[in-house]
Amino acid sequence: MSQQEAANPEATGERQLAPSSMSPGAHGAVFLDRDGVINENAYVNRPEDLVLIPGSAEAIARLNRAGIRVFVVTNQGGVAMGHLTEETLAEIHKHLHELLAEHGAHLDGIDYCPHMSSARVAEYRLDCPARKPGTGMLERARDAHGIDLSESVLVGDATTDLLAGETAGCRTILVRTGFGGKDGKAEVRPTVEAADLAAAVDMILSA
Ligand SMILES: [Zn+2]
Repeated sequence: MSQQEAANPEATGERQLAPSSMSPGAHGAVFLDRDGVINENAYVNRPEDLVLIPGSAEAIARLNRAGIRVFVVTNQGGVAMGHLTEETLAEIHKHLHELLAEHGAHLDGIDYCPHMSSARVAEYRLDCPARKPGTGMLERARDAHGIDLSESVLVGDATTDLLAGETAGCRTILVRTGFGGKDGKAEVRPTVEAADLAAAVDMILSA
């Protein structure tokens, strides 16, 4: 099976589940990948590199107003490779919070994994269970915030996001922004697909 078939139900003739099932439960949350979902999928090594995808901030604000908790879970291999420090990453995330706030949106938390087994920076060289497709970041959010992952929805643009969400028991939405599921790293199908985060939030809130 090709990578594209793995992430594209239409390519295999499979039908998607009804969108009405995409609302998180009362103890659930929405987990968002960062690059390619909230902001454009470029190398973000400085705060000014971060460019929001049109409509993404407004979409997060809609989740906020619906009382749904929103967490970002992002692999930050750039830290492992020495492209940026965790201090700079904190500045980038402060900037992200500021950009979102301009649209009345907020995140309930941002978690990241700076580790890679092939890291150039020795202190980050680790096959970390938090690095997606590992489920460690989702489990940390579960434990820290009392979230039921089986009532949660993960939105991602990479198959590694989808696999992490599926393994953790979340429903998953593949967005066609960023990698659009064509990263070729894992064979996994989303619960549903959406054009972008705004369309994903339409599905989440339509139930
Ligand atoms: Zn890690």
